Amino acid sequence: MKAKRINIWWIRRDIRLIDNAVLNKAAQEDGEIVPVYILDPSMFSGKGQEKKLSFIFRQLWDLNRRLSTFGTAIMVFHGKGSDVFRWLKSQFSQAKIFTSLELGYVGQEMLKEAKKYFQTETVFEGYLLNFDRVRSKEGKVFRTFFHFKNAAYKWIEKMVWKEEENLQFKWYSLSTPSLYRIDGYRIEKLDFSLESLGLPEIQLYHEGAIRSPEELLKRFEMVLPSYNKLRDFPAKNATSLLSVHLRYGTICVREVLKWALGKSNSTKFIDEILWREFFSYLLYHYPESEFQDLRRNYERIWIKPSREDLTKLESAQFGIPIIDAGLNQLYLEGFVHNRVRMIIASYLTKDLQWDWRIGERLFAQHLIDYDPALNVGNWQWNAGVGVDPKSMYRRFNPFLQAEKFDHEGEYINRYLKAGPVGYQS
Ligand SMILES: Cc1cc2nc3c(=O)[nH]c(=O)nc-3n(C[C@H](O)[C@H](O)[C@H](O)COP(=O)(O)OP(=O)(O)OC[C@H]3O[C@@H](n4cnc5c(N)ncnc54)[C@H](O)[C@@H]3O)c2cc1C
Repeated sequence: MKAKRINIWWIRRDIRLIDNAVLNKAAQEDGEIVPVYILDPSMFSGKGQEKKLSFIFRQLWDLNRRLSTFGTAIMVFHGKGSDVFRWLKSQFSQAKIFTSLELGYVGQEMLKEAKKYFQTETVFEGYLLNFDRVRSKEGKVFRTFFHFKNAAYKWIEKMVWKEEENLQFKWYSLSTPSLYRIDGYRIEKLDFSLESLGLPEIQLYHEGAIRSPEELLKRFEMVLPSYNKLRDFPAKNATSLLSVHLRYGTICVREVLKWALGKSNSTKFIDEILWREFFSYLLYHYPESEFQDLRRNYERIWIKPSREDLTKLESAQFGIPIIDAGLNQLYLEGFVHNRVRMIIASYLTKDLQWDWRIGERLFAQHLIDYDPALNVGNWQWNAGVGVDPKSMYRRFNPFLQAEKFDHEGEYINRYLKAGPVGYQS
């Protein structure tokens, strides 16, 4: 008997059914669609991952609820990409994989593994622009936000806002979601829960991770008029809180842009969305910058932190209120307000002169919205080794910053008093 044609929808930055270029592409090919998500342990190792995993798992549950109305279900794998693809090949020999772009070393390595077993199509999903096309007249990659932004606006003007195509998806029939743990050739079917992987599902505190993207957009509608004025004040809750959803594609970035273009007073917000594009564009073109300075700065000499210094970092006890409050927010919520992220990054890399990779790794572990491109881009920018040479001389005094942006001490009080101080593993 001829094996069924299968299209594996390998979900990465697109945990949604609506306006999903990967899914739409898969649907154009002959065959039934199998939704697959892989939790590769190398992406989730180290302390502080449980908030991220709890968030992802909830989104997968939600996606599965929607899929069940079409008579299909999600297959989730916990294991190394290489083991997962080998097993998938044994089940679906005639399959083709469709997936989104995933920047960063781990994502790229997983893609290489997929390609060993399957014909694989990577779709530019998760971003507004096709990074191959955004170039200067001379064909060069932009290295300043100003020039990138000008070019990006030209592409945005040309964007065609397609109505959602009513593609008839042909799904592979599955009645319940499945969770498999794979280790080499050993595969084990588990209950569909984080607990069955020995990982705690925990309560989430970050509002952006608790609310759905639709609720957040509705909330942001009220906040947007004062975004320009209040976005830097951490206690004011005056930003969109959409970063976690943009990261995992539970909302489409095109939808967010379209929403913003239709509103007055949204320029600053659109700029931030373009910063997201810019840092992603840089990592796309300079993948080595995930680990190395994008712009070598030979003036920078890093000081190695002592064990005592690292304890201060891990227990949020530097004795500088805005820094300790920000670290507490990170450990408790897996989120930190942007202004406070900048203050922490400046303090660690400029005042203490620690290698930017120390803070970058800490954020990578704890942030629910952790994104290699945005995290590395921002850490390097703040350390003065990124794209902006001026940032070398820009240093935030944490006391003056607190005075200016948290004048009443509302943010500091909230997070210095919140819960146990520091992260408890
Ligand atoms: C040291 C440092 C590390 C960071 N690491 C990450 C990270 O790993 N993941 C992440 O999503 N953001 C990161 N950021 C950017 C920013 O802090 C968060 O995106 C923002 O705080 C999320 O809140 P929001 O969604 O309410 O933002 P809004 O102000 O509502 O902005 C809307 C969206 O624009 C994008 N954006 C906003 N600020 C930036 C920025 N500085 N750079 C790039 N994109 C931006 C985000 O996608 C955000 O959701 C980092 C910033 C710093 C200074």
